[in-house]
Amino acid sequence: MYRTHTCGQLRITDTGTTVTLAGWVQRTRKMGGMTFVDLRDRYGITQLVFNEEQNAELCDEANKLGREYVIQVTGTVNERYNKNKNLPTGDIEIIVDKLNILNSSDTPPFTIEDNSDGGDDLRMKYRYLDLRRQCVRQNLELRHRMCIEVRNYLSNLGFLEIETPILIGSTPEGARDFVVPSRMNPGQFYALPQSPQTLKQLLMVAGIDRYFQIAKCFRDEDLRADRQPEFTQIDCEMSFVNQEDIIQTFEGMAKHLFKSLRGIELNEPFLRLPWADAMRRFGSDKPDMRFGMEFIELKSETENFFADKAGFAVFDDAKYVGGIVAEGCAVYTRKQIDQLTDFVKRPQVGAKGLVYARVQEDGSVKSSVDKFYTPEQLIAMKEKMQAKPGDLILILSGEDAMKTRKQLCELRLEMGERLGLRDKNKFALLWVTEFPMFEWSDEEQRLMAMHHPFTHPMEEDIPMLDTNPAAVRADAYDMVCNGVEVGGGSIRIHDPKLQAKMFEILGFTPEKAQEQFGFLMNAFKFGAPPHGGLAYGLDRWVSLFAGLDSIRDCIAFPKNNSGRDIMLDAPSAIDQKQLDELDLIIKEN
Ligand code: ASP
Repeated sequence: MYRTHTCGQLRITDTGTTVTLAGWVQRTRKMGGMTFVDLRDRYGITQLVFNEEQNAELCDEANKLGREYVIQVTGTVNERYNKNKNLPTGDIEIIVDKLNILNSSDTPPFTIEDNSDGGDDLRMKYRYLDLRRQCVRQNLELRHRMCIEVRNYLSNLGFLEIETPILIGSTPEGARDFVVPSRMNPGQFYALPQSPQTLKQLLMVAGIDRYFQIAKCFRDEDLRADRQPEFTQIDCEMSFVNQEDIIQTFEGMAKHLFKSLRGIELNEPFLRLPWADAMRRFGSDKPDMRFGMEFIELKSETENFFADKAGFAVFDDAKYVGGIVAEGCAVYTRKQIDQLTDFVKRPQVGAKGLVYARVQEDGSVKSSVDKFYTPEQLIAMKEKMQAKPGDLILILSGEDAMKTRKQLCELRLEMGERLGLRDKNKFALLWVTEFPMFEWSDEEQRLMAMHHPFTHPMEEDIPMLDTNPAAVRADAYDMVCNGVEVGGGSIRIHDPKLQAKMFEILGFTPEKAQEQFGFLMNAFKFGAPPHGGLAYGLDRWVSLFAGLDSIRDCIAFPKNNSGRDIMLDAPSAIDQKQLDELDLIIKEN
């Protein structure tokens, strides 16, 4: 037997027992005639003691142990004199009488401690060492528990977990496909699934009724903190349901996860916000509802607060003027306001400038546009903004209402951050509904599906497909938590004629639609049940629950921002022989 206990198991009640432990040397300390070794495994750390007086030879051996050596020890559990309250095993130590070195180790390139000295790249290169750190491993443990909870919850509701293939054809989710050349079919390629979307719909045609899968998805897009080229979805589909049924089922699952994994009871029904309201009030389809700071429109399609020709061209010429109130921020110095102005002017935000107004203690207003408006006008503006003495009003304006709202959204999030309103231990969930069916793509000069082309339009909007498709709303919904889209789905089209029309609006010729999605449209001819579903982003859920800044930290072997696995050094070139087999020619640069 390699061990009788793990390194996280022994307690004061085990005093006097002879035990055998195995693990890694975290650290050794020499003090007087004693050598202390912290022995680590997945379950914890136990202190080992070697006493020079009692066994000089053994102590000598212990002194030669390097960091990350793998050892096996046998000894007696002893009550510690200096107890360590921070360790579950901190009341005891092992007086060692047998030491067996199972493997030596090179000096690790960074310290394997929660506060490691290793930079990101180094830790990714040696990810297997990084994963020995408790703070990283904990995320994988949480991920495991979440998967188990999801499986049990859905299985209890009659969902079947079914695997779908990875080598398939294109599934449009709005990103680029990763493709794999087929040796047996020269010149032809598989595409990796952007999601199992069409397959889960076929499972509904097959009568499976309730499906789920913890599924790998692949999207070739530019990476950000909450994106990886391959990521995991909790993918679900149900038959004979409407939007309300799906929302109820998966809101139930979300509440269950919060309760079982974080001990948080969410008793209220989640807020529901139509997309248009979310955009108008927060400039985002995934608003962070942990705090207010709602937009107030001073000039828009429905408002015109400022006189048209006040001489302030920035507002006079704008189609949209809107602001937020930062409570208590009138004390902001000139320098702090300049920082905010720089923030909104960054290319990622893209505003031209920032107008601000401080509400003084006496209720008067001091603003950056004092010379264009009368004090009375500014006071009326303050009242419209519902700002109190001590508050700072921040205003953006622009030609394009949607663009300006998105800029204001960035400013709102920044102010939320600065004011400490984005507490990682507070969770604000909501459903965003009534998404537009389509969005215009400047790049492609055509309407694109905002969700995906299988999404059902809202029933009452179907007639507009012929007259004004851009105004059609989708029977789609996203779940949002703390400003992050944690899941989304829709009721699907199950009528082949409506599906064909959708492809037509999206610019597919009937031939192209047949070529790409013939399998689905044919299946729909054989009695497709009404169905719908949703997918949760597993990585995002885990990072949210663990309070992580990046989904990378909850993935065992993630890619870096250029899509590289720096540990495996992938992607990489392949041999000429392999290229020949695949009938591929690499273009010379
Ligand atoms: N397949 C969709 C996605 O990946 C989710 C869904 O509609 O069920 O976003």
